[in-house]
Amino acid sequence: MVLASATDSEKHLEPWAAKRSNSLGRAHKEEEHSYRLPFQRDRDRIIHSAAFRRLESKTQVYTHLYQEGDAYRKRLTHSLEVAGIGRNVARTLGINEDLAETIALAHDLGHAPFGHRGQDILDDLMRDYGGFDHNTQALRIVSLIEHKYPEFYGLNLTYEVREALAKKGKKQEETLKNEFKQHPNPTLEAQVIDLADPIAYSTHDLDDGMEAGTITSEMLEECDFWKEGVDEIRKTKGKLSGKILRSQVVRYIINSQVTDLIGNTRKKLDELSLKSIEELRNHPYRLAVFSPEMEKKHKALKSFLRVNMYEHSRVRRMEYKARKVLRGLFEAFLDDPALFPAPVQKYFQIEKEKGLEKRIVCDYIAGMTDRFALEEYNDIFEPTSKVKR
Ligand code: MG
Repeated sequence: MVLASATDSEKHLEPWAAKRSNSLGRAHKEEEHSYRLPFQRDRDRIIHSAAFRRLESKTQVYTHLYQEGDAYRKRLTHSLEVAGIGRNVARTLGINEDLAETIALAHDLGHAPFGHRGQDILDDLMRDYGGFDHNTQALRIVSLIEHKYPEFYGLNLTYEVREALAKKGKKQEETLKNEFKQHPNPTLEAQVIDLADPIAYSTHDLDDGMEAGTITSEMLEECDFWKEGVDEIRKTKGKLSGKILRSQVVRYIINSQVTDLIGNTRKKLDELSLKSIEELRNHPYRLAVFSPEMEKKHKALKSFLRVNMYEHSRVRRMEYKARKVLRGLFEAFLDDPALFPAPVQKYFQIEKEKGLEKRIVCDYIAGMTDRFALEEYNDIFEPTSKVKR
């Protein structure tokens, strides 16, 4: 029996919002909780997962482990920023804030150590075995790898949360399971998070890049969104400089994108006057999108970061080391499974019989934090290191 006060909180939501009453449910039937709604339970299951805790030591752009400093964003703080933006957008649009928050907290669970380059390295190592992609990996984690219930593997999350992970990113389309093919679109909450993610990373990467000195004032002369922000801030707040100006401009860039996303999505919804979530799911295109003008600015900001930050020698040097570490570990575990801790060894042998041994090595390495990957590398390859086990 679910308390009326819990279900009341979803009554005011728009007809196209995801709700307990229109959810497509869980793969394994479970009793409902008396005062937590399904998406609230999913959020708690994610927060209590090992994969979520490990986001604390996974690189966003800079790893704190190579003396890069520990003031920069990591996957965990990135996910919290995405959740904050997602909740604000969802609340303003009258859709499900709990679901938006849950998807945001889960969206990066599948990241390998050492950021996007870590993913590319594992993808390369798994080329003939289905590849590696952090979105698919997030789905594997919540559906199979986390194991804490006697009745099933995974966290048995609702269809809506798993669908959001399955439909994130374009590359994902080919790997979709049949389960998620029945509608072209995920929920509006998932669509919002797909944009809250790049709003968060494009602005906080810019902030971190400037903090690190990777992005200089000369470079920012090439960034129109930045220059627009400086002009606007100086108009309203006078002549600021240094860190205060930086913070205010970053704030302006986040706020402009979030405001545009809300306004443009609402305009589209008003034009269509949908009657149900079913209509939203079957609509020929996504409805949570930027206006064409903001889309242009957003893309230009991302390509500015690609050229000036992600390809910077400081980041590339870090990635070079990451390649050595991940490749070394992959080869070592595959070559000698006795290096795995005992429970993984057992699992490796079972999966080997199905020809899936590389996937187990990949899952094991992808689950590592940056810190653990480096420790394992030293433990296995450094002749003078103290053997742990
Ligand atoms: Mg992300």
